[in-house]
Amino acid sequence: MRLYSDHGVVLRTIKLGEADRIVTLITEGRGKVRAVAKGVRKTKSRFGGRLEPMTHVALQLYEGRELDTITQAETVDHFRTIRDDLDRVARAQSLLEVVDQVAQERQANPALYRMLVGGLRALAAANAPLLVPAFFWKLLALEGFQPLLDQCASCGETDDLVAFDFEEGGVLCIRDRRGVAISPGALDLLRRILGGGLAAALNEPAGPSTAEVSHLAEAALEHHLERRLKSLGTVL
Ligand SMILES: [Zn+2]
Repeated sequence: MRLYSDHGVVLRTIKLGEADRIVTLITEGRGKVRAVAKGVRKTKSRFGGRLEPMTHVALQLYEGRELDTITQAETVDHFRTIRDDLDRVARAQSLLEVVDQVAQERQANPALYRMLVGGLRALAAANAPLLVPAFFWKLLALEGFQPLLDQCASCGETDDLVAFDFEEGGVLCIRDRRGVAISPGALDLLRRILGGGLAAALNEPAGPSTAEVSHLAEAALEHHLERRLKSLGTVL
């Protein structure tokens, strides 16, 4: 068995036997890793509370055939300010869940790992209304879905863009409209999130436009994940 070191964020854990847990992590070097933490549920566990979901850890593991085994875990960040705030905990949970859904086991995706660490740090610093939707949009872009936002996806018109359609892959003008309606305010926010204005967009207070961007992000993500499941289904 080979010993290796990596950094990771705990996505979820499940009980195993009397005292152990299987810990699912997104790691910097190996993508999603499922590993056994032996004795972690004992009160005097050497891991302490370091392998709870959301914790950013430095790890040492033994490689196994299906499951690796964690031999050491040091906390890099416990994200105390998130854990002390139920609303932020719920938002962090959304980030962990979506990363768990898109990360592939033992396929390195350092950009995804860095996005999650960055998202959790931003959430620890401020509970921005657009943080989760912006994370979803950035994740979709990382997955290769970059919506067309400057012109109608059907005819190229740059004015009167009033709708957004996932199949068309972007916004649509008043004549070609289908999918869901999008307001000028929400379109502006979306352009800023995906066009290099993310930091400023995160300062945006909650309002109708942020709610719209949030609903649209959830629908876009759902659409993407469903399509991915279907394409996997045809392969299997
Ligand atoms: Zn058009």
